[in-house]
Amino acid sequence: MSEHFSEEELSHSEYAIRHDLWNKPDKESLENLERLAEQVLEPIRKEITRPIYITSGYRTKEINSSVGGSPNSQHMKGQAVDTVCPGVPLLQYYNRIKRMVALNELIVDQVIFEFGNWVHISYISSHNRNEFLIATKRSGQTVYMSDSILPENP
Ligand SMILES: [Zn+2]
Repeated sequence: MSEHFSEEELSHSEYAIRHDLWNKPDKESLENLERLAEQVLEPIRKEITRPIYITSGYRTKEINSSVGGSPNSQHMKGQAVDTVCPGVPLLQYYNRIKRMVALNELIVDQVIFEFGNWVHISYISSHNRNEFLIATKRSGQTVYMSDSILPENP
């Protein structure tokens, strides 16, 4: 789909593999995944000079609800992937992306520091919001908040 990201990586789902579920993106989702890879993931990879690992990419509606994704999750449209950058502490990885956006080197829709475990990155065809958030669990519910409580330079 792009130099460093294959369709398999962009639609990777641990859950789908474990439960042997069909998880193939449709044409529109494929286009969105390609756009996300070209416009966002490749520039981040180039800046960080390390591989980015997709822990959860495209999800069918069924898989999305099974893994507790939001009912209008951008994962179902191929507009979002959850990522880590092996060898780089998660907060440092998140802050590198944030700095690229601050320097106008990158446009994103949402970048979310999720549960301290991965960084959710999304991109849409127009009106991207350049929004940075933290997601935490409170009594089983996902709560989104401003990332101002995170340290800028870990
Ligand atoms: Zn996500």
